[in-house]
Amino acid sequence: MPALTPTERRGDAKRLAALREVVRGTAADRPGVYRMLSEEGEVVYVGKSTKVRTRLLSYFRAAYPKEKGARIVREAASIEWSYVPSEFAALLEELRQIKRLRPRFNVAMKRDARHYAFVRMAGGVAPRLTVVRGSGAGERGGVYYGPFVGAERLRDALRELGDALGLRDCTLDARMRFADQAELLPVPPRTPGCIRHEIGTCLGPCVAAVRADVYDDRVRQARAFLEGRDDEPMERLRAGMQEASDALAFERAAVLRDKLQRLESLREQFARLRFAVESLSFAYIVPGHGGEDRFYLIRRGVVRGEFPAPKSPDEWGVLREACARTFDSGTSGGVATVPSHEVDELLLVTSWFSTRPEELQATVPAEAVGRP
Ligand code: SF4
Repeated sequence: MPALTPTERRGDAKRLAALREVVRGTAADRPGVYRMLSEEGEVVYVGKSTKVRTRLLSYFRAAYPKEKGARIVREAASIEWSYVPSEFAALLEELRQIKRLRPRFNVAMKRDARHYAFVRMAGGVAPRLTVVRGSGAGERGGVYYGPFVGAERLRDALRELGDALGLRDCTLDARMRFADQAELLPVPPRTPGCIRHEIGTCLGPCVAAVRADVYDDRVRQARAFLEGRDDEPMERLRAGMQEASDALAFERAAVLRDKLQRLESLREQFARLRFAVESLSFAYIVPGHGGEDRFYLIRRGVVRGEFPAPKSPDEWGVLREACARTFDSGTSGGVATVPSHEVDELLLVTSWFSTRPEELQATVPAEAVGRP
């Protein structure tokens, strides 16, 4: 950012002083979400705090012009804020506003969720499995499984799954040509440097070596394995190991045994994940500022409904009906997939309860809501 001239600096100081006075005179110290707007009315930053007034005033105390707070407030021509009942409500509302408004400072400074990783299945005509990190994962479309911790180990195990089933791992823009298309279209050259088809770890959808339905069937097997419904990839490795051992090829058998172990660990990780995601299904009661208590209906780690704490038998009835609708409708039967638009909220809820396990004491199973 270019340095300000003395006149600009004076104008800047005046504008900041006026903004500070507005905050000082009207903001309260309670949970809320705030937005910084540019002169054109563009929301440039969304933030949250349990004490909105204190948080906003801290922006005006940023000592160095290059500090994040100083840079944000210098762009702001006005500040808006709205109050919510609790810190949990503030986190949710902040996330939803950021997703809707995509303010440029939030996008540039994305919340650091990179230690979480997801397995992503995507890729058009010949899908592939990849590991993606961070909260922006869901922005890229496809089917997601996760979140996991430990992207490297996950990547290794996933490679074994891809090898066992012959799935491709080249870039999404690589041209594919299935065997049943080869007569109609020319076969493109294989991606330089890739020998996976030659060594038998990829079916070769790039060089018309496999029909589309055969490749699709392997993709189906990969998904079934990740969702705990099929052990075919492990059966393949076991059969190969037996064959190698019968042929006294012990080195080969040992390699296959190591691959099998990595796949077993991947299967266990997915089983744990399914359990963890399923266990994040309950009603969560959050005491709110000034008695504004809320009931959140959380199913598979995502907030599906929010209600003020009921005060009358009728209101309890409404809440019970909402619970029935939320928790009985189309469950995914323990499958660990996450629709891409839910990834960020799942990360938020997972991180909220894993860093504050005591909050689980404020949850009740959906079927117990409203029971004495
Ligand atoms: S063999 Fe072809 S399809 Fe398979 S990973 Fe290599 S380039 Fe991709």
